[in-house]
This record gives sequence, C-alpha cells and structure tokens, in this order.
Amino acid sequence: MLVLGIESTCDETAVAIVKDGKEVLSNIIASQIKDHQPWSGVVPEIASRLHLKKIIPLTEEACKTAGVELKDVDLIASSNRPGLIGGLIIGTAVAKSYAWMLDKPFIGINHMEGHLYSSHITCDIEFPYVGLLVSGGHTMIIIVKSHTEYEVIGTTIDDALGEALDKVAKHYNIGYPGGPAIEKAALDGDKDKFHFPISNLYKSDRQYDVSYSGIKTAAINHLEKYLVNPGDTYTVNDIAASFQHKAFDMLFRKVKKASIDYKIPRIVVGGGVSANQYLRQMFATLTDTQVYFPSLKYATDNAAMIAAYAYHKFQETGADGLDTGVYPRVTGFKISLVQ
Ligand code: AMP
Ligand code: MG
Repeated sequence: MLVLGIESTCDETAVAIVKDGKEVLSNIIASQIKDHQPWSGVVPEIASRLHLKKIIPLTEEACKTAGVELKDVDLIASSNRPGLIGGLIIGTAVAKSYAWMLDKPFIGINHMEGHLYSSHITCDIEFPYVGLLVSGGHTMIIIVKSHTEYEVIGTTIDDALGEALDKVAKHYNIGYPGGPAIEKAALDGDKDKFHFPISNLYKSDRQYDVSYSGIKTAAINHLEKYLVNPGDTYTVNDIAASFQHKAFDMLFRKVKKASIDYKIPRIVVGGGVSANQYLRQMFATLTDTQVYFPSLKYATDNAAMIAAYAYHKFQETGADGLDTGVYPRVTGFKISLVQ
C-alpha cells in the first residue's frame, strides 16, 4: 500500500511516500529554520505562508523522487493535530483536496503518534513498549500496547523538554534551535560543574511526570551571574553541559522506573530531542532493555513518520471523512492518543 504523508504542524513542510509503513520511497523536507532564526523562535504567520508556498511543489517532488504518480497512491494522510493552526489547515486542506480529487481515502494523523512511529520505519518493534516523546511542545511517557492502544502515564507539568532547551539557548544567545546549540556547547563543558535542582514529583498520580520550569530558570539565573562576573571559574559550556545532563537525567530516571514498574523491557524514543547524542548515550547504558531511537533523518519533523503511522492506523480504524477538522491542541493526551 502506497501512502502519501503530509506534515506541516510547525516549521517544516514535508511530504513523503512510504510503502507498507516501512519502505520510504521519498521523504522531502523544506526546513524553515533560517526564516525563523532572526526571531529565535517560530513566527506562526511566516510559517503558514511558507507552508502554502512549498506544499504543492514538494508533493510533486515527492512523487517524482518515488517514481510514482499521485493517482497510484492508495491513501493520503496529513498531520491534523496538534500544532500551529495555520500549518494544520494548509496541510490537511491539501491532503483532503487530493483525496477528493483522486477519490482516495484520507486519514488525519496525530503528529505525536507519527514521532512514535519514526523508529518503526527502520526496526520491527514488539508490543508493549514504553514510549518517550520529547519534542518542542511535548514531553510524554506512554505505555504503547498496540498500533492504536496507548496510555499516557506521565507528562511535563509545565514546559516541554525541547522548549526548555530552546528558551535557555535563547537567553544564552548560542543559537536556534536551542537543543542542538546546547548539545554542541555541552561538548566542551563539565556536566558535574553545577548541580541544578530537579523536580521531585513523587506522589502516586505524578510519579512519571516531570517539570522543567525550575531547572530552566536556574540555568538562566546562572547565566546572569556569569555575565556579571565572566572571569569566574566556569564557562557557558559548563552551564550548558550541567543543564543538559540534569534535564535529561530527570526524564531518564522516570522512563527507567516506568520500564521496571510495568515490567516492559523495551523503550522507544521519538521527537526532535531524540536527535541528541548525549540522550542516546544515556539510554545506551540500559543493557538489559531494548532501546530504539529513530534514524536521525526521521527524528525531527518529517512526513515519512506520518505516512508510516497512517498505514498501521488505516488497517485498524479505516479512513476519516473529508469533514475531519484540525486541532491545535489535543486534550486527550492524558488518557489516550487515540481519539
Ligand atoms: P519537534 O518539536 O519534534 O519538531 O522537535 C523540535 C525540538 O527538538 C526543538 O525544541 C529542538 O531544540 C529540539 N532538538 C532538535 N535537535 C536536537 C538535538 N540534537 N538535541 C536536543 N534537542 C534537539
Ligand atoms: Mg514534532
């Protein structure tokens, strides 16, 4: 089954064609990073305009690269939740228009489910597993029971991990997006130089939750002290290394605990922050657990993961109607990703 996937939830316009959820025939991505860089963050209006400009030419390119014609595609999928409203409307309107024009089924995909499926493209993963989603907008620990059965057992109670990395990097003026900038700065820093406070959410209904606002503020305050007295015995690299270590370690402990408590020795990580090598090394220390990270090209936003998940979801739920809407926020995350 050939699936055309469209992704336009944030600052990447992407179109892919994937066969049977595994074979990526094309995966075209137009990144808007340079367009948002001057503002150190995504400007929604600029993002919408660029999605509109790129989406049709990228679809044509995806078909050409895959060596297929649009009429040969069996299913058309778009990320229709969660994300920036402008991008969601554009990607989903285009997907539904193609579906209507070509008389093909359409399916709307939760962008976060797509991130979880980025590892399924390259690996055969057994259920159940503990899923960890770490992106610019979400931080979630999930028990994944089958292609369509999930239970979100933990989330951040404030900032997402990626958002905390982005905000700290913005204050430090070390680059955008912040995650890769902090990763790079941390390479020359000492992770044990500072012991940033971490949240200790231990009550039974919070034991898999995390919080990033405290550690983010602490990292920003360290910078302010450093700027007053730059001759001190530490560098921005030390702050970056210590902050990155603690921010990841807090989550690593919770995921490890979930894997032990639920007796599930399999962990699947997805979302933009999963591109981080230090995070990968941390999880690689779990020798008695199978850990899956996506291949780097599927870690940040892409449409191959949307098409891959659409294939699996379609087998179980069938198509969505062309009256399907778009949803910037997904409230059901606390209970289940499936709606
Ligand atoms: P997403 O929301 O899935 O598109 O992912 C974007 C988020 O991933 C942003 O917060 C980025 O800073 C973060 N990110 C991307 N690459 C890396 C990296 N190498 N290390 C840490 N965070 C990263
Ligand atoms: Mg994403």
